[in-house]
Amino acid sequence: MAARPEERKAPWLDAKAQPYIRIEGITKKFGEFVAVNDVSLNIYRGEIFCLLGGSGCGKTTLLRMLAGFEQPSAGRIFIDGVSMEGVPPYERPVNMMFQSYALFPHMTVEQNVAFGLKQEKLPREEIESRVADMLGIVKLGGMEKRKPHQLSGGQRQRVALARSLVKRPKLLLLDEPLGALDKKLREHTQFELVNIQERLGVTFIVVTHDQEEAMTLASRIGVMNQGYIVQVGTPHEIYEFPNSRFVTEFIGNVNMFEGRIVEDEPDHVTISSDELGGPLYVGHGVSAAPEAQVWAAVRPEKMILSREQPSFEYNRASGVIKEIAYMGDASIYLVLLDSGKTVRITQPNTYRHADDRLTWDDRVWVSWDESSSVVVTE
Ligand code: ATP
Repeated sequence: MAARPEERKAPWLDAKAQPYIRIEGITKKFGEFVAVNDVSLNIYRGEIFCLLGGSGCGKTTLLRMLAGFEQPSAGRIFIDGVSMEGVPPYERPVNMMFQSYALFPHMTVEQNVAFGLKQEKLPREEIESRVADMLGIVKLGGMEKRKPHQLSGGQRQRVALARSLVKRPKLLLLDEPLGALDKKLREHTQFELVNIQERLGVTFIVVTHDQEEAMTLASRIGVMNQGYIVQVGTPHEIYEFPNSRFVTEFIGNVNMFEGRIVEDEPDHVTISSDELGGPLYVGHGVSAAPEAQVWAAVRPEKMILSREQPSFEYNRASGVIKEIAYMGDASIYLVLLDSGKTVRITQPNTYRHADDRLTWDDRVWVSWDESSSVVVTE
């Protein structure tokens, strides 16, 4: 089987690979308030690393310390092996693209992109050829003479990106780069960003509170909560193997069943859960004490809805369909279990004219495979 893209180039799995950015025990205090708390991270050349977290978790502050706009209260940052202590922003091999894009309104697209190169006093021919190349890469050829107000939000975003990249930074920091775009344009631009990044080989660090954006863009995601990095992993690892209730609930939708460990074996655990109204069987071991309180998490798309009672005795419960939302590609069902808990189930709408479609107030069984849930202990 072919490896997934993230596995094909995964320098973080190579013990000999040198990180391009090394963040060692970085803390930032504003007075008594700790905005970033003892964060250590290695980021490798060519990654799109997403810092993901809710409002106020410290992600922008961490980005600003990388750019040199804030000084850490403790800890060290190395870029390409060089300590950034005392290095001002303009001497770092870093460019930062701000949320607001900050384009010059009176300048054309071309002049906006050329601005930084003119300041560096590069020869005119070189500026012209680099600007033309870059506008081609971000697909803005033909719009060179327009001013920002004559562009759509997505086009303005690409001008800002071209302006950041034309100086060929080794590291580009992007703060909520796609926040101003509508959903469709955002998706489209996300894929473009990945293509551009792959073509130019720049390392991107992207701050976002949007988990879908992080999942689409990132080689790896660092999930932040209250100043801490709580998990680092590929989008697949973060979604399928979250390490805590916080990460499980922050990324995507999930059904959580609180329970206690009954049987704890290296390759499986069984859990008794009043919330499910029956036993759970999870096909992986857990390092938790017997009787420990745990949560089994099951994603909505991994649950099966049926009229028939499943033959196995674990991971199943009966209930009544209370809500159905038709989303086109899939439908979302809210099922009130006999235990009193409501679960969310997503089923793909594979067939257009399905016979025997489930509907409101139908009695159903909800079940899932033993490999479909994960257990978290905190
Ligand atoms: P958002 O998504 O809302 O931008 P964020 O995760 O980027 O959030 P930060 O901007 O890093 O959050 O801020 C982290 C915390 O530090 C917040 O509680 C914020 O109020 C506080 N903070 C940030 N800058 C300062 C400052 N200069 N002085 C005092 N507190 C600050």
